[in-house]
Amino acid sequence: MRVSMSGLLGVLSLAFVVQAQAAPVMALQCGNVFDSKSARLVGERTIVTGADGRIQQVLPGRATVPGATVLDLSGQTCMPGWIDLHVHLGQESNPKSYEERFRLDDIDFGYRALVYADRTLKAGFTTVRDLGGEVTPHLRDAINQGYVQGPRIYAAGKSIATTGGHGDPRNGLNAELAHLLGPPGPAEGVINSVDDARQAVRQRYKEGSDVIKITATGGVLSYAKSGDAPQFTVDEVKAVVETAKDYGYKVAAHAHGKEGIRRAVEGGVTSIEHGTYMDDEIFALMKKHGTWYVPTISAGKFVAEKAKIDGYYPEIVRPKAARIGGQIQDTFAKAYQAGVKIGFGTDQGVAPHGENAKEFGYMVEAGMPAAAALQAATFNAAEVLGAADLGQLTQGFRADVVAVPGNPLDDIALTSKVSFVMKDGNVYVGAGGR
Ligand SMILES: [Zn+2]
Repeated sequence: MRVSMSGLLGVLSLAFVVQAQAAPVMALQCGNVFDSKSARLVGERTIVTGADGRIQQVLPGRATVPGATVLDLSGQTCMPGWIDLHVHLGQESNPKSYEERFRLDDIDFGYRALVYADRTLKAGFTTVRDLGGEVTPHLRDAINQGYVQGPRIYAAGKSIATTGGHGDPRNGLNAELAHLLGPPGPAEGVINSVDDARQAVRQRYKEGSDVIKITATGGVLSYAKSGDAPQFTVDEVKAVVETAKDYGYKVAAHAHGKEGIRRAVEGGVTSIEHGTYMDDEIFALMKKHGTWYVPTISAGKFVAEKAKIDGYYPEIVRPKAARIGGQIQDTFAKAYQAGVKIGFGTDQGVAPHGENAKEFGYMVEAGMPAAAALQAATFNAAEVLGAADLGQLTQGFRADVVAVPGNPLDDIALTSKVSFVMKDGNVYVGAGGR
């Protein structure tokens, strides 16, 4: 951000209560509990959370614990806090998005991001992987330091593209502006060689990223013609993945077209995002390499719908939104049938932040059992992140809990009626919520 952080924080502390470091000791008496490992409901349990923000123990039935504040969650189903593997907290699309980038400063997007983060947390998503946006690493730090509230964030920072590709920050500029700004390089997230690829990953490390995002093919919302052309060579992907390993990073690859997906999988990425034109050959390749699929059906549905409205998207974007957007749910159904490993992700920021749980409904609509959809957003998503203490309601894990009234395995729409949210042992929705 170009503004001074002290100026920003001074204003923010007026609007938000600074979070205390120690969490209260609590006993959550859950009417039912979803075990994310077995993807089953295991009945009534009492989850005891400690001052360190972790789960101390899980007791059978309704238990009371000396010194713990009891929260009655009878009639509710407790689950591990949900994880969305694909969001963009630094933005939310609207018909003016394409001109706002010329009129607004990073600080404006930063303020909006506070609202998006708050909505996301209150929707039950206690952890997100933010796959692209320079605002988010700063937001992550402010949340971790307790200045503002939001989900735990794994941030990619600037995504890595090739010239003219999805995420080239100079796309759509007129010649004069493009000339004045000059061609973007690895520092701005644009590479054109194996050496550039290494530099771009190292630059993300310098900027404090937690994960690397590449755009292996064209994309829907970028100001460019193709949504599916391959935009990285296999060698460039491999250079990104190998360099990322040096820093302990996993690599997420945005990809719609088959050839770009094939190169990304062969290059060793952790996850394919969107995966629109995957087929049986790609599914087999992903299973061989252990590649995860993060579908983002929500974004597909949203852009397909908005493509019908004159002027919502620029004309160069509109046909891509209609064609690609409508395809993702069908591809998801086939990928699930084929046995590809699936992690939950929405691409929220395309669709409104806070509506992340709609994805559960779209997954179930496409043939995935509700329990598997919930597992994708908990146990599986934690594995994609490489987070050993997230995604399960087990002793020693982070005290991240979301509850809904009733049984979400019978009615997946309940995931949009969250009644309780706890993150790191602090309550944000429900009794004692802020
Ligand atoms: Zn995205």
